[in-house]
Amino acid sequence: MDFADRFLKCCDCENDFVFTAGEQLFFFDKQFKNDPKRCKLCKAKRAGVGRIASGGPSVTALPLSRTETRTKCSACGIETTVPFKPTQGRPVLCRSCFQSKRVPATVAAHVGTSAETVEMIQDSLPTPELLAAMAGAPQA
Ligand SMILES: [Zn+2]
Ligand SMILES: [Zn+2]
Repeated sequence: MDFADRFLKCCDCENDFVFTAGEQLFFFDKQFKNDPKRCKLCKAKRAGVGRIASGGPSVTALPLSRTETRTKCSACGIETTVPFKPTQGRPVLCRSCFQSKRVPATVAAHVGTSAETVEMIQDSLPTPELLAAMAGAPQA
């Protein structure tokens, strides 16, 4: 099968772009039935937009990249990270102190104590900040 460069019209920017013999061979190889509709520039643009809109695989692969803040536990003093921005003057607890203070014994006994379940509990529980706010912090 012989291929020759062809010129196609981009359906986005309406510029002519070249559909090279090599690309045609690639399309033939992959059994793509349709000619490319967009020039490389518009294709790249669309791919970029799609990646940003959907969150992208590189973002979802790093669950800890959400707003983790490095701070010190006000109970035991070790360095820890918390999934929220600590407010000045409010206590911040490390995972183990947080767990021993906030997780009701019944819940802990029910789900067990593996690392995953601890994470799970902490994700579903209100943060110490939120608890403090609910306990009657002045409303703005
Ligand atoms: Zn284009
Ligand atoms: Zn601690």
